[in-house]
Amino acid sequence: MGRMKRHDVCVRGAGIVGRSLALSLARLGLRVALVADAAAPARADVRAYALNAASVALLRELKVWDALPAHAATAVHGMHVEGDTSGVLEFSAWQQQVAELAWITDAALLEQALDSAVRYAPHVSVVPAPVDATLTAVCEGKASAGREGLGVVFERHDYGHRAIAARLTTPVSHRNVARQWFRSPDVLALLPFDAPVPDHGYALVWSLPEARAQELLALDVPAFEAALNEATRGDAGALALAGERASWPLMQARAHAWSGPGWVLLGDAAHVVHPLAGQGLNLGLADVVALTQVISSRETWRPVGDPRLLRRYERVRDLPTRAMGQLTDGLLHLFAGSQAPLRELRNRGMGLVNQLPPLKRWLTARALDF
Ligand SMILES: Cc1cc2nc3c(=O)[nH]c(=O)nc-3n(C[C@H](O)[C@H](O)[C@H](O)COP(=O)(O)OP(=O)(O)OC[C@H]3O[C@@H](n4cnc5c(N)ncnc54)[C@H](O)[C@@H]3O)c2cc1C
Repeated sequence: MGRMKRHDVCVRGAGIVGRSLALSLARLGLRVALVADAAAPARADVRAYALNAASVALLRELKVWDALPAHAATAVHGMHVEGDTSGVLEFSAWQQQVAELAWITDAALLEQALDSAVRYAPHVSVVPAPVDATLTAVCEGKASAGREGLGVVFERHDYGHRAIAARLTTPVSHRNVARQWFRSPDVLALLPFDAPVPDHGYALVWSLPEARAQELLALDVPAFEAALNEATRGDAGALALAGERASWPLMQARAHAWSGPGWVLLGDAAHVVHPLAGQGLNLGLADVVALTQVISSRETWRPVGDPRLLRRYERVRDLPTRAMGQLTDGLLHLFAGSQAPLRELRNRGMGLVNQLPPLKRWLTARALDF
Protein backbone atom coordinates (compact mmCIF):
# COMPACT_ATOMS: atom_id res chain seq x y z
CA MET A 1 0.00 0.00 0.00
CA GLY A 2 1.32 3.49 -0.91
CA ARG A 3 2.30 5.99 1.76
CA MET A 4 -0.38 8.60 2.64
CA LYS A 5 0.44 11.92 1.03
CA ARG A 6 0.57 14.96 3.34
CA HIS A 7 -1.33 17.07 0.85
CA ASP A 8 -4.39 16.36 -1.27
CA VAL A 9 -3.72 19.24 -3.65
CA CYS A 10 -0.61 21.17 -4.65
CA VAL A 11 -1.56 24.53 -6.20
CA ARG A 12 1.34 25.87 -8.26
CA GLY A 13 1.25 29.67 -8.66
CA ALA A 14 0.05 32.20 -6.06
CA GLY A 15 -1.67 34.67 -8.40
CA ILE A 16 -5.33 35.59 -7.98
CA VAL A 17 -6.51 32.31 -9.52
CA GLY A 18 -4.08 30.12 -7.52
CA ARG A 19 -4.86 31.77 -4.19
CA SER A 20 -8.61 31.65 -4.82
CA LEU A 21 -8.37 27.96 -5.71
CA ALA A 22 -6.34 27.17 -2.58
CA LEU A 23 -8.96 28.87 -0.38
CA SER A 24 -11.87 27.30 -2.23
CA LEU A 25 -10.53 23.73 -2.01
CA ALA A 26 -9.48 24.16 1.63
CA ARG A 27 -13.11 25.00 2.40
CA LEU A 28 -13.98 21.47 1.22
CA GLY A 29 -11.63 20.15 3.92
CA LEU A 30 -8.84 19.25 1.48
CA ARG A 31 -5.23 19.76 2.62
CA VAL A 32 -3.71 22.25 0.20
CA ALA A 33 -0.09 23.29 -0.40
CA LEU A 34 0.23 26.60 -2.26
CA VAL A 35 3.53 27.14 -4.09
CA ALA A 36 4.52 30.81 -3.97
CA ASP A 37 7.29 31.93 -6.29
CA ALA A 38 9.85 33.68 -4.09
CA ALA A 39 11.55 35.05 -7.24
CA ALA A 40 8.38 36.85 -8.41
CA PRO A 41 8.84 40.64 -8.53
CA ALA A 42 7.26 42.47 -5.57
CA ARG A 43 6.21 45.36 -7.87
CA ALA A 44 2.63 46.57 -7.19
CA ASP A 45 0.29 45.94 -10.13
CA VAL A 46 -1.17 49.24 -11.49
CA ARG A 47 -4.08 47.47 -13.13
CA ALA A 48 -7.69 47.54 -11.99
CA TYR A 49 -9.76 44.56 -13.05
CA ALA A 50 -13.36 44.64 -14.23
CA LEU A 51 -14.86 41.77 -12.23
CA ASN A 52 -18.25 40.29 -13.08
CA ALA A 53 -20.99 39.22 -10.67
CA ALA A 54 -19.84 35.58 -10.57
CA SER A 55 -16.24 36.56 -9.66
CA VAL A 56 -17.45 38.88 -6.91
CA ALA A 57 -19.73 36.12 -5.56
CA LEU A 58 -16.76 33.73 -5.36
CA LEU A 59 -14.55 36.30 -3.60
CA ARG A 60 -17.40 37.07 -1.20
CA GLU A 61 -17.80 33.39 -0.38
CA LEU A 62 -14.06 33.16 0.28
CA LYS A 63 -14.43 36.12 2.73
CA VAL A 64 -12.04 38.18 0.61
CA TRP A 65 -14.42 40.66 -0.99
CA ASP A 66 -15.70 42.11 2.28
CA ALA A 67 -12.14 42.36 3.62
CA LEU A 68 -11.17 44.79 0.82
CA PRO A 69 -10.86 48.45 1.84
CA ALA A 70 -13.78 50.58 0.55
CA HIS A 71 -11.62 52.38 -2.03
CA ALA A 72 -10.48 49.07 -3.58
CA ALA A 73 -13.59 48.59 -5.72
CA THR A 74 -15.89 50.90 -7.68
CA ALA A 75 -19.26 49.85 -9.12
CA VAL A 76 -19.93 50.33 -12.84
CA HIS A 77 -23.47 51.52 -13.53
CA GLY A 78 -23.12 52.32 -17.20
CA MET A 79 -20.97 51.62 -20.21
CA HIS A 80 -20.41 53.80 -23.26
CA VAL A 81 -18.68 52.21 -26.26
CA GLU A 82 -17.75 54.15 -29.40
CA GLY A 83 -16.71 52.84 -32.80
CA ASP A 84 -14.25 54.57 -35.10
CA THR A 85 -16.92 56.65 -36.89
CA SER A 86 -20.55 56.99 -35.80
CA GLY A 87 -21.12 53.71 -33.92
CA VAL A 88 -22.21 53.98 -30.29
CA LEU A 89 -23.34 51.30 -27.84
CA GLU A 90 -24.73 52.13 -24.41
CA PHE A 91 -25.33 49.70 -21.55
CA SER A 92 -26.82 50.53 -18.20
CA ALA A 93 -27.33 48.51 -15.03
CA TRP A 94 -30.82 49.98 -14.76
CA GLN A 95 -31.76 48.74 -18.26
CA GLN A 96 -30.28 45.32 -17.57
CA GLN A 97 -32.07 45.19 -14.19
CA VAL A 98 -28.91 44.50 -12.21
CA ALA A 99 -27.40 46.48 -9.33
CA GLU A 100 -24.16 47.03 -11.26
CA LEU A 101 -22.63 45.90 -14.56
CA ALA A 102 -19.24 45.12 -12.99
CA TRP A 103 -16.86 46.13 -10.20
CA ILE A 104 -13.56 47.80 -11.03
CA THR A 105 -11.15 46.30 -8.51
CA ASP A 106 -7.63 47.34 -7.57
CA ALA A 107 -5.35 44.43 -8.59
CA ALA A 108 -2.71 45.02 -5.88
CA LEU A 109 -5.25 45.38 -3.04
CA LEU A 110 -7.09 42.27 -4.19
CA GLU A 111 -3.81 40.30 -4.17
CA GLN A 112 -3.08 41.59 -0.65
CA ALA A 113 -6.52 40.61 0.67
CA LEU A 114 -6.14 37.13 -0.84
CA ASP A 115 -2.67 36.82 0.65
CA SER A 116 -3.98 37.57 4.18
CA ALA A 117 -6.88 35.15 3.73
CA VAL A 118 -4.47 32.39 2.66
CA ARG A 119 -2.20 33.00 5.66
CA TYR A 120 -5.08 32.53 8.10
CA ALA A 121 -6.79 29.67 6.27
CA PRO A 122 -6.76 26.31 8.02
CA HIS A 123 -5.66 23.48 5.69
CA VAL A 124 -3.50 25.76 3.46
CA SER A 125 0.27 25.77 3.81
CA VAL A 126 2.39 28.11 1.71
CA VAL A 127 5.44 26.26 0.40
CA PRO A 128 8.50 27.40 -1.62
CA ALA A 129 8.54 24.48 -4.10
CA PRO A 130 6.07 21.91 -5.48
CA VAL A 131 5.22 19.03 -3.14
CA ASP A 132 3.90 15.54 -3.73
CA ALA A 133 0.06 15.58 -3.75
CA THR A 134 -2.83 13.59 -5.21
CA LEU A 135 -3.68 16.52 -7.50
CA THR A 136 -1.41 19.27 -8.88
CA ALA A 137 -3.32 22.37 -10.03
CA VAL A 138 -1.17 24.57 -12.27
CA CYS A 139 -2.11 28.27 -11.97
CA GLU A 140 1.20 29.81 -13.02
CA GLY A 141 -0.13 32.19 -15.66
CA LYS A 142 0.65 32.29 -19.37
CA ALA A 143 4.40 31.53 -19.05
CA SER A 144 3.83 28.48 -16.84
CA ALA A 145 6.85 26.22 -16.38
CA GLY A 146 4.66 23.57 -14.74
CA ARG A 147 2.54 23.31 -17.89
CA GLU A 148 5.67 22.99 -20.00
CA GLY A 149 7.01 20.30 -17.67
CA LEU A 150 3.84 18.31 -18.32
CA GLY A 151 4.57 18.51 -22.06
CA VAL A 152 1.30 20.33 -22.83
CA VAL A 153 1.25 22.26 -26.12
CA PHE A 154 0.32 25.94 -25.62
CA GLU A 155 -0.94 27.34 -28.89
CA ARG A 156 -0.41 31.09 -28.86
CA HIS A 157 -1.08 33.89 -31.26
CA ASP A 158 0.80 37.09 -30.49
CA TYR A 159 -1.22 40.12 -31.58
CA GLY A 160 1.87 42.33 -31.96
CA HIS A 161 -0.03 44.73 -29.68
CA ARG A 162 0.78 45.98 -26.19
CA ALA A 163 -1.57 47.24 -23.46
CA ILE A 164 -0.57 50.32 -21.48
CA ALA A 165 -2.16 50.55 -18.04
CA ALA A 166 -2.10 53.53 -15.67
CA ARG A 167 -4.21 55.36 -13.10
CA LEU A 168 -5.69 58.71 -14.09
CA THR A 169 -7.56 61.63 -12.56
CA THR A 170 -10.00 64.03 -14.19
CA PRO A 171 -11.87 67.13 -13.00
CA VAL A 172 -15.12 65.69 -14.43
CA SER A 173 -17.07 63.08 -12.39
CA HIS A 174 -16.86 59.56 -13.86
CA ARG A 175 -20.52 58.98 -12.85
CA ASN A 176 -19.64 55.27 -12.57
CA VAL A 177 -19.58 54.94 -16.36
CA ALA A 178 -16.93 52.85 -18.14
CA ARG A 179 -15.88 54.21 -21.52
CA GLN A 180 -14.32 52.40 -24.45
CA TRP A 181 -13.19 53.56 -27.87
CA PHE A 182 -12.56 51.14 -30.73
CA ARG A 183 -10.22 53.49 -32.60
CA SER A 184 -8.90 51.04 -35.18
CA PRO A 185 -6.35 49.71 -34.67
CA ASP A 186 -6.09 50.69 -30.99
CA VAL A 187 -8.66 50.08 -28.26
CA LEU A 188 -8.82 52.48 -25.33
CA ALA A 189 -10.75 51.81 -22.12
CA LEU A 190 -11.35 54.09 -19.13
CA LEU A 191 -12.63 52.19 -16.11
CA PRO A 192 -14.20 54.39 -13.42
CA PHE A 193 -12.27 54.17 -10.18
CA ASP A 194 -12.70 56.01 -6.88
CA ALA A 195 -8.99 56.28 -6.08
CA PRO A 196 -6.87 58.32 -5.81
CA VAL A 197 -9.76 60.84 -5.95
CA PRO A 198 -13.32 59.61 -5.22
CA ASP A 199 -15.55 60.01 -8.26
CA HIS A 200 -12.71 61.49 -10.33
CA GLY A 201 -10.40 58.57 -11.11
CA TYR A 202 -10.05 56.13 -14.00
CA ALA A 203 -7.97 53.05 -14.67
CA LEU A 204 -6.62 53.18 -18.22
CA VAL A 205 -6.14 50.17 -20.50
CA TRP A 206 -4.90 51.29 -23.91
CA SER A 207 -4.04 48.53 -26.41
CA LEU A 208 -1.98 49.59 -29.40
CA PRO A 209 0.33 48.14 -32.05
CA GLU A 210 3.73 47.49 -30.42
CA ALA A 211 5.63 50.34 -32.11
CA ARG A 212 3.01 52.96 -31.23
CA ALA A 213 2.82 51.67 -27.64
CA GLN A 214 6.60 52.01 -27.30
CA GLU A 215 6.40 55.57 -28.65
CA LEU A 216 3.75 56.48 -26.10
CA LEU A 217 5.67 54.84 -23.25
CA ALA A 218 8.76 56.85 -24.18
CA LEU A 219 6.88 60.18 -24.02
CA ASP A 220 7.25 62.40 -20.95
CA VAL A 221 4.16 62.90 -18.77
CA PRO A 222 2.74 66.07 -20.45
CA ALA A 223 3.20 64.61 -23.95
CA PHE A 224 1.58 61.30 -22.95
CA GLU A 225 -1.36 63.15 -21.39
CA ALA A 226 -1.74 65.24 -24.54
CA ALA A 227 -1.90 62.07 -26.69
CA LEU A 228 -4.43 60.52 -24.30
CA ASN A 229 -6.65 63.61 -24.29
CA GLU A 230 -6.50 63.79 -28.06
CA ALA A 231 -7.58 60.14 -28.31
CA THR A 232 -10.50 60.60 -25.88
CA ARG A 233 -11.39 64.03 -27.38
CA GLY A 234 -11.97 65.46 -23.91
CA ASP A 235 -15.09 63.27 -23.46
CA ALA A 236 -13.95 62.23 -19.96
CA GLY A 237 -12.51 65.65 -19.01
CA ALA A 238 -8.82 66.61 -19.02
CA LEU A 239 -7.14 63.36 -18.02
CA ALA A 240 -3.91 63.45 -15.99
CA LEU A 241 -1.59 60.60 -15.01
CA ALA A 242 -1.77 59.69 -11.30
CA GLY A 243 1.19 57.29 -11.26
CA GLU A 244 3.52 55.11 -13.31
CA ARG A 245 2.62 53.58 -16.66
CA ALA A 246 3.08 49.80 -17.07
CA SER A 247 2.59 47.62 -20.13
CA TRP A 248 1.90 44.04 -21.22
CA PRO A 249 2.32 42.30 -24.60
CA LEU A 250 -1.00 40.88 -25.82
CA MET A 251 -1.82 37.41 -27.08
CA GLN A 252 -4.55 34.87 -27.46
CA ALA A 253 -3.54 31.40 -26.31
CA ARG A 254 -4.94 28.04 -25.32
CA ALA A 255 -3.44 24.86 -23.90
CA HIS A 256 -4.24 21.75 -25.96
CA ALA A 257 -5.03 19.72 -22.84
CA TRP A 258 -6.21 21.02 -19.48
CA SER A 259 -6.08 17.86 -17.41
CA GLY A 260 -4.56 14.42 -17.07
CA PRO A 261 -3.91 11.86 -14.33
CA GLY A 262 -3.24 13.92 -11.19
CA TRP A 263 -2.97 17.32 -12.86
CA VAL A 264 -5.13 20.17 -14.08
CA LEU A 265 -4.61 23.68 -15.54
CA LEU A 266 -6.54 26.83 -14.56
CA GLY A 267 -6.53 30.54 -15.43
CA ASP A 268 -4.02 32.05 -17.83
CA ALA A 269 -2.00 28.82 -17.70
CA ALA A 270 -4.89 27.26 -19.67
CA HIS A 271 -6.25 30.18 -21.73
CA VAL A 272 -5.34 33.79 -22.49
CA VAL A 273 -7.66 36.33 -24.13
CA HIS A 274 -7.19 39.94 -25.26
CA PRO A 275 -8.13 42.29 -22.38
CA LEU A 276 -10.55 44.37 -24.50
CA ALA A 277 -13.57 42.74 -22.86
CA GLY A 278 -11.97 42.59 -19.37
CA GLN A 279 -12.63 38.85 -19.08
CA GLY A 280 -9.31 36.99 -18.55
CA LEU A 281 -9.43 36.89 -14.77
CA ASN A 282 -13.19 36.34 -14.77
CA LEU A 283 -12.61 33.20 -16.85
CA GLY A 284 -9.88 32.06 -14.43
CA LEU A 285 -12.13 32.54 -11.40
CA ALA A 286 -14.93 30.67 -13.20
CA ASP A 287 -12.41 27.80 -13.63
CA VAL A 288 -11.97 27.84 -9.84
CA VAL A 289 -15.74 27.63 -9.28
CA ALA A 290 -16.09 24.80 -11.84
CA LEU A 291 -13.21 22.69 -10.46
CA THR A 292 -14.45 23.16 -6.88
CA GLN A 293 -17.94 22.03 -7.90
CA VAL A 294 -16.65 18.99 -9.77
CA ILE A 295 -14.44 17.95 -6.84
CA SER A 296 -17.08 18.55 -4.16
CA SER A 297 -19.71 16.53 -6.01
CA ARG A 298 -17.43 13.56 -6.81
CA GLU A 299 -18.27 10.02 -5.79
CA THR A 300 -16.77 9.33 -2.31
CA TRP A 301 -14.48 6.59 -3.65
CA ARG A 302 -13.02 8.80 -6.40
CA PRO A 303 -9.63 10.41 -5.61
CA VAL A 304 -9.20 14.14 -6.45
CA GLY A 305 -6.54 13.30 -9.05
CA ASP A 306 -8.78 10.90 -11.01
CA PRO A 307 -8.43 11.81 -14.72
CA ARG A 308 -12.12 11.09 -15.44
CA LEU A 309 -13.10 13.53 -12.72
CA LEU A 310 -10.76 16.19 -14.07
CA ARG A 311 -12.12 15.68 -17.59
CA ARG A 312 -15.50 16.76 -16.24
CA TYR A 313 -13.97 20.11 -15.26
CA GLU A 314 -12.32 20.42 -18.68
CA ARG A 315 -15.63 19.73 -20.44
CA VAL A 316 -17.55 22.29 -18.37
CA ARG A 317 -15.01 25.03 -19.14
CA ASP A 318 -14.42 24.23 -22.80
CA LEU A 319 -17.31 26.14 -24.38
CA PRO A 320 -17.33 29.35 -22.26
CA THR A 321 -13.58 29.87 -22.66
CA ARG A 322 -13.65 29.17 -26.42
CA ALA A 323 -16.63 31.50 -26.88
CA MET A 324 -14.89 34.36 -25.05
CA GLY A 325 -11.70 33.80 -27.05
CA GLN A 326 -13.67 33.96 -30.31
CA LEU A 327 -15.63 37.05 -29.21
CA THR A 328 -12.58 39.09 -28.22
CA ASP A 329 -10.59 37.96 -31.26
CA GLY A 330 -13.55 38.62 -33.58
CA LEU A 331 -14.11 42.15 -32.21
CA LEU A 332 -10.42 42.92 -32.58
CA HIS A 333 -10.38 41.81 -36.21
CA LEU A 334 -13.67 43.54 -37.00
CA PHE A 335 -12.11 46.84 -35.91
CA ALA A 336 -8.65 46.19 -37.35
CA GLY A 337 -9.43 46.78 -41.04
CA SER A 338 -9.41 50.34 -42.40
CA GLN A 339 -11.47 49.79 -45.61
CA ALA A 340 -14.42 52.21 -45.81
CA PRO A 341 -17.22 49.58 -46.37
CA LEU A 342 -16.05 47.53 -43.38
CA ARG A 343 -15.89 50.67 -41.27
CA GLU A 344 -19.43 51.62 -42.25
CA LEU A 345 -20.69 48.11 -41.53
CA ARG A 346 -19.15 47.78 -38.06
CA ASN A 347 -20.34 51.20 -36.92
CA ARG A 348 -23.86 50.61 -38.28
CA GLY A 349 -23.81 47.20 -36.57
CA MET A 350 -23.10 48.89 -33.24
CA GLY A 351 -26.03 51.24 -33.80
CA LEU A 352 -28.28 48.28 -34.60
CA VAL A 353 -27.28 46.33 -31.50
CA ASN A 354 -27.87 49.48 -29.47
CA GLN A 355 -31.51 49.53 -30.60
CA LEU A 356 -32.17 45.88 -29.71
CA PRO A 357 -32.69 45.54 -25.94
CA PRO A 358 -32.99 41.69 -25.97
CA LEU A 359 -29.66 41.33 -27.81
CA LYS A 360 -28.03 43.81 -25.45
CA ARG A 361 -29.38 41.89 -22.50
CA TRP A 362 -27.99 38.65 -23.94
CA LEU A 363 -24.57 40.23 -24.52
CA THR A 364 -24.49 41.66 -21.00
CA ALA A 365 -25.53 38.36 -19.49
CA ARG A 366 -22.63 36.61 -21.28
CA ALA A 367 -20.18 39.21 -19.96
CA LEU A 368 -21.59 39.29 -16.44
CA ASP A 369 -22.01 35.52 -16.21
CA PHE A 370 -25.54 35.56 -14.77
C1 LIG B 1 -3.60 45.13 -19.34
C2 LIG B 1 -4.48 44.01 -18.87
C3 LIG B 1 -5.73 44.29 -18.32
C4 LIG B 1 -6.55 43.26 -17.89
N1 LIG B 1 -7.79 43.56 -17.38
C5 LIG B 1 -8.61 42.58 -17.00
C6 LIG B 1 -9.93 42.87 -16.49
O1 LIG B 1 -10.35 44.03 -16.42
N2 LIG B 1 -10.71 41.83 -16.08
C7 LIG B 1 -10.28 40.54 -16.16
O2 LIG B 1 -11.06 39.64 -15.80
N3 LIG B 1 -9.05 40.22 -16.62
C8 LIG B 1 -8.21 41.21 -17.04
N4 LIG B 1 -6.95 40.90 -17.50
C9 LIG B 1 -6.51 39.48 -17.51
C10 LIG B 1 -5.89 39.08 -16.15
O3 LIG B 1 -4.80 39.91 -15.86
C11 LIG B 1 -5.40 37.63 -16.19
O4 LIG B 1 -6.35 36.81 -16.81
C12 LIG B 1 -5.18 37.13 -14.75
O5 LIG B 1 -4.19 37.90 -14.12
C13 LIG B 1 -4.74 35.67 -14.76
O6 LIG B 1 -4.54 35.26 -13.44
P1 LIG B 1 -3.68 33.95 -13.12
O7 LIG B 1 -3.69 33.85 -11.62
O8 LIG B 1 -4.18 32.82 -13.94
O9 LIG B 1 -2.22 34.26 -13.67
P2 LIG B 1 -1.14 35.33 -13.18
O10 LIG B 1 -1.81 36.60 -12.76
O11 LIG B 1 -0.12 35.41 -14.26
O12 LIG B 1 -0.50 34.68 -11.88
C14 LIG B 1 0.38 33.58 -11.96
C15 LIG B 1 1.16 33.49 -10.67
O13 LIG B 1 2.01 32.33 -10.70
C16 LIG B 1 3.32 32.68 -10.31
N5 LIG B 1 4.25 31.75 -10.96
C17 LIG B 1 4.62 31.74 -12.27
N6 LIG B 1 5.49 30.74 -12.49
C18 LIG B 1 5.66 30.11 -11.32
C19 LIG B 1 6.43 28.99 -10.90
N7 LIG B 1 7.18 28.32 -11.78
N8 LIG B 1 6.35 28.59 -9.62
C20 LIG B 1 5.57 29.24 -8.73
N9 LIG B 1 4.84 30.32 -9.06
C21 LIG B 1 4.86 30.74 -10.33
C22 LIG B 1 3.47 34.13 -10.74
O14 LIG B 1 4.50 34.78 -9.99
C23 LIG B 1 2.10 34.68 -10.43
O15 LIG B 1 2.01 35.06 -9.06
C24 LIG B 1 -6.11 41.91 -17.96
C25 LIG B 1 -4.84 41.63 -18.52
C26 LIG B 1 -4.05 42.66 -18.99
C27 LIG B 1 -2.71 42.33 -19.59
